[in-house]
Amino acid sequence: MLTKDFQLTGRQWFTDSRQVMTTVSDARSADAVFFAIQGEHHDGHAFIGDLYHKGIRQFVVERSALTLERRDELATYTDARFIEVNSSLKTLQTLAAEHRRQFRIPVIGITGSNGKTIVKEWLAQLLDGGSASDGFVVAKSPKSYNSQLGVPLSVHELAESHTLGIFEAGISKAQEMQSLEAIIRPTIGIFTNIGTAHDEGFRTRKQKVAEKLRLFIHASVLIYCSDYTDIDEEVNMLLKAVNPDMRFITWSLTGHKAIYQGTLQKNQLSLTGKNGAVNLTLILPFTDPASVENLMHCLVTMLTLRAWDEAELQNRLNRLRPVSMRLEQKEGINNCVLIDDSYNNDVVGLQLALRYLNQQGTRSRRVVILSDVLQSGQPEADLYKQVGELMRSNEVEQFVGIGPVVSRNAHFFTTNSLFFATTDEFLARFSFGDLRDSVVLVKGARPFSFERIVHRLERKVHGTVLDINLDALTHNLNYYRERIARSEPSDTRLMVMVKAFAYGSGSAEVAQLLQFHRVDYLAVAYADEGVSLRQNGVDLPIMVMNPAPETFATLLEYKLEPEIYSMRLLLEWGRFLGSEERGGGSSENAFHLKIDTGMHRLGFLESELPALTDYLQQHPTLKVVTVFSHLVGADDAQFNSFTEEQYASFIRSTTSLEKALGYRPLRHLLNSAGIVRFPDYKLDMVRLGIGLYGVEASQIDQAALQTVGTLRTVISQIKTVQAGESVGYSRRGVLDHDARIATLAIGYADGYDRRLGNGVGEVWVNGTRCPTVGNVCMDMTMVDVTNASANEGDEVIIFGPELPITELAQRIGTIPYEILTGVSERVKRVFFKEGN
Ligand SMILES: *Cc1c(COP(=O)(O)O)cnc(C)c1O
Repeated sequence: MLTKDFQLTGRQWFTDSRQVMTTVSDARSADAVFFAIQGEHHDGHAFIGDLYHKGIRQFVVERSALTLERRDELATYTDARFIEVNSSLKTLQTLAAEHRRQFRIPVIGITGSNGKTIVKEWLAQLLDGGSASDGFVVAKSPKSYNSQLGVPLSVHELAESHTLGIFEAGISKAQEMQSLEAIIRPTIGIFTNIGTAHDEGFRTRKQKVAEKLRLFIHASVLIYCSDYTDIDEEVNMLLKAVNPDMRFITWSLTGHKAIYQGTLQKNQLSLTGKNGAVNLTLILPFTDPASVENLMHCLVTMLTLRAWDEAELQNRLNRLRPVSMRLEQKEGINNCVLIDDSYNNDVVGLQLALRYLNQQGTRSRRVVILSDVLQSGQPEADLYKQVGELMRSNEVEQFVGIGPVVSRNAHFFTTNSLFFATTDEFLARFSFGDLRDSVVLVKGARPFSFERIVHRLERKVHGTVLDINLDALTHNLNYYRERIARSEPSDTRLMVMVKAFAYGSGSAEVAQLLQFHRVDYLAVAYADEGVSLRQNGVDLPIMVMNPAPETFATLLEYKLEPEIYSMRLLLEWGRFLGSEERGGGSSENAFHLKIDTGMHRLGFLESELPALTDYLQQHPTLKVVTVFSHLVGADDAQFNSFTEEQYASFIRSTTSLEKALGYRPLRHLLNSAGIVRFPDYKLDMVRLGIGLYGVEASQIDQAALQTVGTLRTVISQIKTVQAGESVGYSRRGVLDHDARIATLAIGYADGYDRRLGNGVGEVWVNGTRCPTVGNVCMDMTMVDVTNASANEGDEVIIFGPELPITELAQRIGTIPYEILTGVSERVKRVFFKEGN
């Protein structure tokens, strides 16, 4: 039923169809609502049918998305309720704001350029009393949920038993804060600091500060550091006028006018309040400048909430742990994949982690090791019933619960679940040998020190590691999607090139992420790369660019689609399909035609088209799904006119082909650089390659991409070598000064190019660039760390955000592609994500 009558009964909100994995039970169905949102990259309305079949019966839908066809479709789901609104997101925000109004507890709202998530997490750790009587029961945003969508979902989690809310708000352009303010409605504000992030969304720095300050217009207290003069000025100019009753609790470490004055000597902080109200000496657990600033915000907030004695504060500070927002995927023992999410321990965090588990495809057995969930704010029975259901709906085959509370709620879990009272008991009694070929999610609250479990399950990684930042990959994907959507037609499809081990980044993991984000096509170079993707649960269509006739049977078996680039190959393919008696033009016979418009590598020349079309006309069961060609110099303006010629030739060829075939295969021409430089040529599909991995080949918009890979290693040994002596093979590295020489656990066999030796290359050691000395060896490289602070065992960055791949490539006269794909497969890939 389609209705404008707004009556929503469900409390379980879904905004992402991928969160709903399997069929929901009738009981849950009554409680579940799906908000269909038309976003930049997805349209939630496209998944309504899918969700209906999974048991969802309440939907919030957007008027502008209701085409006639869609209205007809919705009418067939007779027992579902569709509430028609102008904007699902606005509706969600309004509902969250109404929910918030029901609570009279203090709510802390945090904004600023940096440190929001850490201040939030640390405050929650510091204020946590375990129970309401001696501390706070805190509701907080999961991870860094601080956006227009993340904030309402976070605030929606506020429940009866919470005694404090802590939520962060992030904005990237003007006018966004107003809606977040209405949802969070903070009583206490924290403005962490102001930096340059998102400067482009604002006219001036002052405008950015002013916009952020809108979060506090109804708060009664604002906490900030008066050392930030931009903030101090705008607070005095704007906020005092709007909200004259507000208390401003300022602090300073440099003697600026403030309520709290702090001085730091090494790790010892002396903190005095105005008029001697407070006089504390505390030892800080972290002393880097960012941590000190975050700690100051936390301490001042604690003192604002209530009085504390020095010993108690010190006690709580001592228990503070660094905040790791990383969810890491590692290689585990016995061919397991380990997902280590030590970040947070609430139900939303668990749902996010399960979502990640689901991305791993469906082939492996799923195992979850979970500790007691602390601070959920929910009655125990409700909580573990919900956790038990999550395990079932996510098809978790084995559940392991650790802790007294989860153990006494064992009846909510399937019979083959295991329970242990403590982490020690688990480590002593669990039979690790039985854990094989599984994806294992390890997620525990801090007191359970699950890092010991991770350590036990992890396959040990020696020295050199390539970190792959999956958030950066997603960011880059979205960047190209946004560029593609900028011009008409805005629905051009996206094929992503995952050849050569996904440009060195690890094919299976990257492909799984791309599948999760619903790209349209993948492409690999050889059949066995495609097979490996299929074996890892990837079921997207896959094009194989260089299919040997011997692999044709494999292609069919694994539903891989060959690129046919010559008459010889086409005849082989036709003969093979004929002998297999697999005619009928079924999609299994789908193949791709490569036209050579100037690369002169693979492909049919324009002059060969008549023979090609003759053959295809005689064999109508051979189905051309796409026709494509490749540009030789899309990244470089000096080839613009050649690119134009290639395009014209491609259009001529495809037009005559379409005429001969009587149907229109999809046409595609652009690679990453082409997407940026020739948007008019994007046709039906584009082929994204290096841009996904963080290198903008045309160098026009590099700043918009994020670095995906960080290659790091460790220092094995450091020694002092006198001037005049030499380092390494063939005495090439002769020293002209007494030097500290560090030997790194990486060599050309790992992919550290030998041409980077003898000072051509530099590595990054604790903030200092250090040149190589002597020849690069097979497994080792020596660098001069005389000017760096460096110790044996320290981490060294070979490339990453600090040292761009483009720079390494330039230094040895090659292209970033070679550096990326050169990292040897013996180097472990560690995949991680920090955001949502
Ligand atoms: C590798 C490849 C691409 C992607 O190129 P990038 O420059 O990495 O974007 C596109 N098309 C074909 C045919 C390729 O081989």
